[in-house]
Amino acid sequence: MLPNQRHTLLIDADDTLWENDRHYRASTVCFADLAQALGVDRQRVQPLVDHYEQVHINIGGFGPTSFTAALLDTWQHLTHEFGREPTDAELDRVRACTGRLFSPQVELLPLVAATLDHLASRHALVMVTKGEPEFQLAKLQGSGLAGYFEHARVLAHKDVAAYQTLVTDLALEPAVTWMVGNSPRSDINPALRAGLGAVYIPSNHTWHQELEPLLPSPRLRVLNRFAQLIDLFA
Ligand SMILES: [Mg+2]
Repeated sequence: MLPNQRHTLLIDADDTLWENDRHYRASTVCFADLAQALGVDRQRVQPLVDHYEQVHINIGGFGPTSFTAALLDTWQHLTHEFGREPTDAELDRVRACTGRLFSPQVELLPLVAATLDHLASRHALVMVTKGEPEFQLAKLQGSGLAGYFEHARVLAHKDVAAYQTLVTDLALEPAVTWMVGNSPRSDINPALRAGLGAVYIPSNHTWHQELEPLLPSPRLRVLNRFAQLIDLFA
């Protein structure tokens, strides 16, 4: 338990408040099924998708639009190996694999709403997520959680500079500000480097590119479940 005072909790959304990576994995499985039917070894799919995903993230950031573009590029890459262009029908089937990612409907992780309800009565809550603002803000509205947050920020990158900018923009006091999330690379390590506290809540589903060793820090806390925030910030 931390000293009894008002804290500011910056809270990640994808795989912290609601399921996300699971839907990306399901989209990739759907795509791998199509590739296999084309005659491609499934093992080749993930590295190719990773490659084109990184290309599109560099252009347009992380989100369903980038991911769909990556799958379409991967499909084109594969059909070129067969000496032809993709058909419109094939591209429609590829797009259908990511349809779920564009939905504003979210599946909240266990006890998220009750925990936020409790925390919001004592602390300032700010949603801080990566992605495409249009879709992330639609998911926040669809989640029914928007009322718990004083602000919602959708960032292109969660790096040290992004957290420093957030501290300035929202006039945050680093000593009582914490980033809460499931990603060592985006939520925990850059927040610690920016002088904030960080609360790591591992998810069963975290995008493999978000994993890296946690920085040792006296401001780092690790919880098993979101609901344990209530005891930490009692
Ligand atoms: Mg996350």
